[in-house]
Amino acid sequence: MPKEDLPFELIQEVKGFLDEEEGLFLYHTAKEAARRGPCLEIGSYCGKSSIYLGLGCKARQGVLFSIDHHRGSEEQQPGQEYFDPELLDSVSGRIDTFPFFRKTIEKAGLEETIVPMVCSSALAARRWSTPLSLVFIDGGHSFESAYKDYQNWAKHILPEGFLLIHDIFEDPQKGGQAPFQVYQKALASGRFLELPRVKSLGVLKRKVEKENLPS
Ligand code: MG
Repeated sequence: MPKEDLPFELIQEVKGFLDEEEGLFLYHTAKEAARRGPCLEIGSYCGKSSIYLGLGCKARQGVLFSIDHHRGSEEQQPGQEYFDPELLDSVSGRIDTFPFFRKTIEKAGLEETIVPMVCSSALAARRWSTPLSLVFIDGGHSFESAYKDYQNWAKHILPEGFLLIHDIFEDPQKGGQAPFQVYQKALASGRFLELPRVKSLGVLKRKVEKENLPS
């Protein structure tokens, strides 16, 4: 995959857990999808994936909805495996990644492309009715949380739109199993085609169902 003119220096300094090859794939896929409708990500954290997805959208005058309550997921809380003391807001005593996210999208020139939604994914989904060309699931990594994200958002994906799920590990030694289980649920629904995985990024494409075809 060709390296585009992306701001790799900025990308490197942003906290996050996204591999560069996965990021490049997000960029190209958002660029392809964005002309058909808005893209949406769940779990923006400090904005690393938002740069890739956002720049793909920007290239097509598209839009990226970026959802995160910015209070950190379970494993990012004090005392947990992925706790980062720099993200702790000293006034509230809670994790707050929103200032970091905001700085990232400002530096990446994406303030006119990304719509930050600072709330839970379930709240954002409550009255949602806009069809989406791409959904990237990378929020809470418990099964309940990841499956809820799938249930709430996959139904809004346009025919031939993309469902991307991060942190797919078939081998339990390599990582948590919840995203992989959700990925398998999506496949079992019969509504998605499986495309080649990019490292731990699962790639599914919404099928064109018969009722969507012109008669
Ligand atoms: Mg992830």
